[in-house]
Amino acid sequence: MKYDLAIVGIGSHGSAALHRAAQEGLKVIGIDRFDPPHTRGSHHGDTRITREAQFEGDHLVKIVQAGNKWRESFEDKNDPLFVKCGCLNIGVKNSDTVRDIAAAASGVAQRCNIEIETLDAATLAKRFPVFQVPDNFDVVFEPNAGYLRPEACIAKNIEMARQYGAKVLVNTEVTDIAEGRITLADGRVIEAEQIIISAGAYIKKFVPATFAQKIKPVRMYVGWFKIKENYEAHKNAPVFCLDYNDYGIYGFPAIDGPDGGMKVGVEIDVFNKPALDLATHTYETTKEEMDEIFAGVLEYLPALSYDYVRSAACIYTVVTDDEFIIDKHPLMKGVWICSACSGHGFKLSFGIGMMLVDLVKTGKSALYTDKFKFSRFN
Ligand SMILES: Cc1cc2nc3c(=O)[nH]c(=O)nc-3n(C[C@H](O)[C@H](O)[C@H](O)COP(=O)(O)OP(=O)(O)OC[C@H]3O[C@@H](n4cnc5c(N)ncnc54)[C@H](O)[C@@H]3O)c2cc1C
Repeated sequence: MKYDLAIVGIGSHGSAALHRAAQEGLKVIGIDRFDPPHTRGSHHGDTRITREAQFEGDHLVKIVQAGNKWRESFEDKNDPLFVKCGCLNIGVKNSDTVRDIAAAASGVAQRCNIEIETLDAATLAKRFPVFQVPDNFDVVFEPNAGYLRPEACIAKNIEMARQYGAKVLVNTEVTDIAEGRITLADGRVIEAEQIIISAGAYIKKFVPATFAQKIKPVRMYVGWFKIKENYEAHKNAPVFCLDYNDYGIYGFPAIDGPDGGMKVGVEIDVFNKPALDLATHTYETTKEEMDEIFAGVLEYLPALSYDYVRSAACIYTVVTDDEFIIDKHPLMKGVWICSACSGHGFKLSFGIGMMLVDLVKTGKSALYTDKFKFSRFN
């Protein structure tokens, strides 16, 4: 049997596209080498920051907003995929980051009707006492932002897709893709009019070499640090992104009870990090990696202790210009590529799923922009 659409990789973006395609009545199959959600890609770790004020560009705002509306239409209110707790961007006054975020966020906020507030260090300490930042810091707060639960989002997408009649093949690796044909590791062939490749960190394998060199998987890590005191304040904290020296730490409210710790990660110049060897990497973290995060924690979150309850490593897949690649395959008709969207793709996954299905069905989408095309590299 020939499918209308086959999706290679049903993690964050692929599962959203699978769900949307099935809802829109396409005969669709999703294939994954593991059994999503899982811990061997880019989506594990319980939480992903989501915000509408995308200082990376207005073109992303409408994708997030469209995705949010769609999510709300099927979300179970008793088991929400999104938790609203607000998002803080914190950094040195007049630093590029804070200035850019404040300017861009207020511009975006006005244009797209997003509520944001600017706070000073003293107000921050009063409202959110877990943070202790110097007086020369500025803060931009987006009260309607929060976090998504990535594993629950993916599970929901796959469950809904199945309900709408999608076929799902898990623990099945795709080894080759040609126009209208997918070859599986066991030699089986799947035929489909169109194919979306959303293989996350493993996508390079399916992209022509000239473009594959623009894509780099890098290793990232997070720790859940023990809370020494004032658990309630940590539980009620917003998600946050905090400039620390030349890099940033980010984190989430303490959602796992007084002994579950507070999740904090670090984002160090991903463009200069070495490319990850996907054949040999492991998901165990090292003491040096936790030290890197804790340096920032120690400075600004004084009630957290170095004893971490757990830790996790995960993969960012960065594109050299920090933009996403979502486009037709340059050499194969009917094949679409959706890159893993660097370190900030999860919040866009529902909107990207909608956009991909529009593209497959009609060749265009109101959410699409030339910024995502391969031609920008010419
Ligand atoms: C530590 C960390 C923190 C992050 N924080 C945030 C955040 O706060 N907010 C945010 O918006 N984003 C965040 N991100 C980024 C976000 O999680 C990613 O952009 C997103 O998960 C990428 O989705 P994906 O679908 O491309 O990849 P994945 O979700 O990994 O899915 C790819 C799927 O493809 C499958 N696959 C690969 N190769 C094959 C093959 N040959 N055959 C079949 N299947 C295959 C894999 O098994 C996998 O299931 C973070 C990422 C990391 C690592």
